Amino acid sequence: AFDVLVVGGGPAGAAAAIYAARKGIRTGIAAERFGGQVLDTMAIENLISVPHTEGPKLASALETHVREYDVDIMNLQKAKKLIPAARPGGLIGVELENGAKLKAKTVILTTGARWRQMGVPGEDDYRNRGVAYCPHCDGPLFKGKRVAVIGGGNSGVEAAIDLAGIVAHVTLIEFDGQLRADEVLQRKLRSLSNVKVITSAMTTEVLGDGDKVTGLSYKDRNSGDVHHVELEGIFVQIGLVPNTEWLKDDIALSQRGEIEVDVRGATSMPGVFAAGDATTTPYKQIVIAMGEGSKAALSAFDYLIRQVPV
Ligand code: FAD
Repeated sequence: AFDVLVVGGGPAGAAAAIYAARKGIRTGIAAERFGGQVLDTMAIENLISVPHTEGPKLASALETHVREYDVDIMNLQKAKKLIPAARPGGLIGVELENGAKLKAKTVILTTGARWRQMGVPGEDDYRNRGVAYCPHCDGPLFKGKRVAVIGGGNSGVEAAIDLAGIVAHVTLIEFDGQLRADEVLQRKLRSLSNVKVITSAMTTEVLGDGDKVTGLSYKDRNSGDVHHVELEGIFVQIGLVPNTEWLKDDIALSQRGEIEVDVRGATSMPGVFAAGDATTTPYKQIVIAMGEGSKAALSAFDYLIRQVPV
């Protein structure tokens, strides 16, 4: 059995595995896709002390660093069930989709999240070429340009306010007849001169020149008319979905499906910790996931040294 079994191989999982292995305890990491969301991005300019890197390069650096230690890496393995220990301090089970059952004294859940997509023509083609999902990450790339934000909930309106300070112009597009963000955010948004809000609008297509985004089309849901907007960037803010469906019967999740963690990364199940985008910890970012993953590993170690041998 493992002392620490990490589920998930993104920045949070890699950090947790390294911190655990450095304690000289038996560490394993099972990941559906080692590297995580980092594999889906190109330019990364906010990993502090690394002014510029690229997603695939960072993903391979994460793996190289984990391989410096004696960590049992199980890549392309998806966990489907978490089984609580039969007695306090006993072994926790993790069942994989391939049928294997892993056992560990502690488990660290770092299964991350995925951005909900619009699912319209052009979105996939222009991902990272104008279509973006993270204003904290990619906002500065659109300095002085025109962008749209898709989604008028809290994250969409926050993104529009944030981007309005960087870009030339923001068009916020909301499907519903009205914005759904908190009133205080809406008031702030209305005070900005370079933001236009369009409601009752369904984005129908991302337009581009073969190389990068040049605009979008939306349908006015009242009149049925289709309109085009010329712009250089589109920030999709219609939800970040945590990869926690498989945990819902066993671990306390928030209303949004995020794993509830305390300040030490502990979950509702004894011996099980969690970190990164899958948790209630705010601001889904690489440095934050790495810090939280490290913290969860130290918490798991602290839990282990307090177990009395039976
Ligand atoms: P993830 O990276 O999501 O990793 C989750 C891991 O768990 C993966 O290995 C996955 O395969 C695995 N997994 C999921 N379910 C299971 C399961 N059931 N069993 C086993 N394994 C499972 N952040 C920045 O700080 N700067 C940026 O510039 C930046 N740009 C981004 C651009 C894009 C396009 C995207 C999508 C995100 C970007 N982010 C950026 C956000 C950043 O990638 C995430 O905050 C970070 O990757 C979260 O790390 P994580 O380890 O918590 O989760």
